[in-house]
Amino acid sequence: MILALESSCDESAVALFSPERGLAGEWIASQIATHARHGGVVPDLAAREHLRHFGPLLQQAQREVGFSAVTLVAVTHGPGLAPCLALGVAAAQALGRSLHVPVAGVNHLRGHVWSAFLPVHAAAPADFAARAAELLPHLGLVVSGGNTLLFTLDRERRVTVLASTRDDAAGEALDKGAKLLGLGYPGGPLIERVARSGRPDAFAFPRGIGARSDLGFSFSGLKTSLRYRIEKMTPAEVARDLPDLCSSYQEAVVDALERKTGLALEQGGGAFRSLGLSGGVANNGPLRDRLAALAKRERVAFLASRPEHTGDNAGMIAFAAWADPACRPAENLQIVPGLALEGN
Ligand code: AMP
Ligand code: MG
Repeated sequence: MILALESSCDESAVALFSPERGLAGEWIASQIATHARHGGVVPDLAAREHLRHFGPLLQQAQREVGFSAVTLVAVTHGPGLAPCLALGVAAAQALGRSLHVPVAGVNHLRGHVWSAFLPVHAAAPADFAARAAELLPHLGLVVSGGNTLLFTLDRERRVTVLASTRDDAAGEALDKGAKLLGLGYPGGPLIERVARSGRPDAFAFPRGIGARSDLGFSFSGLKTSLRYRIEKMTPAEVARDLPDLCSSYQEAVVDALERKTGLALEQGGGAFRSLGLSGGVANNGPLRDRLAALAKRERVAFLASRPEHTGDNAGMIAFAAWADPACRPAENLQIVPGLALEGN
C-alpha cells in the first residue's frame, strides 16, 4: 500500500492506495474558507493550516485503515508553495523513518496527469496495465489555478509537455475575472454558476490563441479585456449583465482550451488513443462537455478526472507514485518549488 501526502498549496490531503484494490481511503482538509477572506492563497497562512491539519488527518487514516500494509510513502515535492511543500516532505520523511519504508517525491503535475487514469484503475485494478496500454499514446490537458498544460503520455508512460501558458493559467484567468466582477474566490465555480443564465456570445472576448499552428495558451489579454469592458459600464449595467459577462468570459476560456486541444489531436495525426482532462478547472461543466464531444468526434477515449480528484488531492499523488516510472524513492528528498513537469 502507498501512503501519500499532498500539501503543495491550500489542501492538506492524505490517501492510502493499494495497486490490487485501489484507493483504500482519502482524507482532506480544505483551506478555501481561510483564504477566501484574503481573495487568494496566502503562503504563510497555508503553511500554518497544513501544520494544524496533518496530525488529525494522519490519525484518522491510521484509525480507519491503518499503516501496517504501507510499503512506500509518497509526497508532493514540487511545484508549489515552498513553506507548504516543506511541511509535507518533513512529515513524509518522519513517516518513512518510523514505518521503515522508502519515501518517493512526486511531481504535483504528474499527479494531475495520472488522475485522469484513476477511474480506469478503479474499474478493474488487475487489468490496469493492459487497459492503459490500449489508451496510450494519450493527449492530456491539465487546467488548474497555477497551470495550463497540454502533454503527451507515450507507450512507455513518459510525459512530454507540448504546450503551456505564456502568462496566466486558465484557472487564474477565471479567478481574476471573478475578482474584477466582484464575485469572490475561488472564481471558477462562481463564474460557472452565474454563467448558466447568461449568453456565451453576448460579449466578444479575445481567445489569445495566436497563430493557427501554435499550441501555446495566453489568458492575460482576456482578463485585461474584461477590465476595459467593465470600466466602460456603470455598476448597475455590470450587475444587470453579470450572467452574460460571466458566460462570455467563461466561453472565451473554454473555447481557447478546446481549440488548442483539438489542434494538438490533429497534429498527432490520429496516433492518440485517449484524451485526458484534469486539474481544478476540469470541474467546469461546459469544458467537460466540450472536450467529451471533441474526443467523440476524433474517436478517442475521453478520460476525465473524477470531481474529487480534479483539485489538489493525495489520491492522485499515491496513484502517480505507483503508475509513473519517473516517480522513484529518494534519500534525503528535497523540495523543488519551481519543478517543471518534465524535470521530476
Ligand atoms: P487547483 O489549482 O487544481 O487546485 O484548481 C483550482 C482552480 O480551479 C481555481 O482557479 C478554480 O477557480 C478552478 N475551478 C474550480 N472549480 C471550477 C469550475 N467549476 N469551473 C471553472 N474553474 C474551476
Ligand atoms: Mg493542483
